[in-house]
Amino acid sequence: LIVSVVILHIGGLMPQLRRDPTSGKWVVIATERAKRPDQFNKENVSVSGECAFCYGNEGMTPPETLAYRGEAEADTPGWQVRVVPNKFPVFAPEGAGGEDGQGLFVSAPSYGGHEVIIHSPDHNRSFAQLEVEQVALVIEAYRDRYLYWKADPRIEFIEIILNHGKNAGASLEHPHSQLFAMPLVPPAAADQLRGSAGYFAETGRCVYCDTIKDERSAGVRAIAERDGLFLFAPYASRLPFETWILPTEHQPFFERICDAEMRSLGSMLIDILERYDRVLGDPAFNLFLHTTPCKSESTDYHWHIEILPKLTAIAGFELGTGMMINIATPEDAAAYLRGDRRS
Ligand SMILES: [Zn+2]
Ligand SMILES: [Zn+2]
Ligand SMILES: [Zn+2]
Repeated sequence: LIVSVVILHIGGLMPQLRRDPTSGKWVVIATERAKRPDQFNKENVSVSGECAFCYGNEGMTPPETLAYRGEAEADTPGWQVRVVPNKFPVFAPEGAGGEDGQGLFVSAPSYGGHEVIIHSPDHNRSFAQLEVEQVALVIEAYRDRYLYWKADPRIEFIEIILNHGKNAGASLEHPHSQLFAMPLVPPAAADQLRGSAGYFAETGRCVYCDTIKDERSAGVRAIAERDGLFLFAPYASRLPFETWILPTEHQPFFERICDAEMRSLGSMLIDILERYDRVLGDPAFNLFLHTTPCKSESTDYHWHIEILPKLTAIAGFELGTGMMINIATPEDAAAYLRGDRRS
């Protein structure tokens, strides 16, 4: 969904961007994540099996880049939300280099940041089980680290994601999000940016604002609306039970979110995850945040969150065509998620 991450067993190379000469698409080669095959899924967990994200184990992670805490010293217990660099970064401040491109083989340093945002000290409470205040604090950490990386002139785009459940690629039990600060605008965001810019050029309006308007009058895919946020199953949902959250006002820049909006967003996130739990039984999911690229002054785009439950496997057709087959209509999904229909 973002740039592809390929894990190769060649060790010793810092993360690197490579361009596929046939499609023009960039791939991140990040070998440090898989030094030995038995280390898959075990990053951040020590030999003793202790969790690096729990209180008392702060020394097991790289030094924190942000923590909301009282008086306590850095890298000690007492924090409410803690942010640390990923031990096996896909984008790294040292950048990486690269071989000089030979012929068609173009590479670029995978410069940037890859951070882990630890949602709370509680190892066993999922995002949906946190208090609204705690989720709002996690969103505040998203914003604060977003602003930090946005100030770096080499960063073009920052993607914040949350993987929940093993099937969604969560590598570690202790609930956390990840921030990727990258030196390029990745394809999924670039497609939407191109689409919204084209629509704006044609109509003078925002395609997301118009979508909200049309979804409100269609009604069938709307799930909830309150406190300036609209939750719905998009018309061309790629996967069963895909949902999006949009601010109802036109807002291009997520990083300008205010305290009250962080709280409303926290409450809406808990709401949709509780609906998923009710209808689908705590499914694995991928959640990500899209906002205007760091250096863009354009105000055509409209920040939003996309949530994709992992209920089906991506198979050959999807990989081969780049086109999705969705086996559930978003109208049905919305009816179940609203509670109008029960299984
Ligand atoms: Zn833990
Ligand atoms: Zn808009
Ligand atoms: Zn998006």
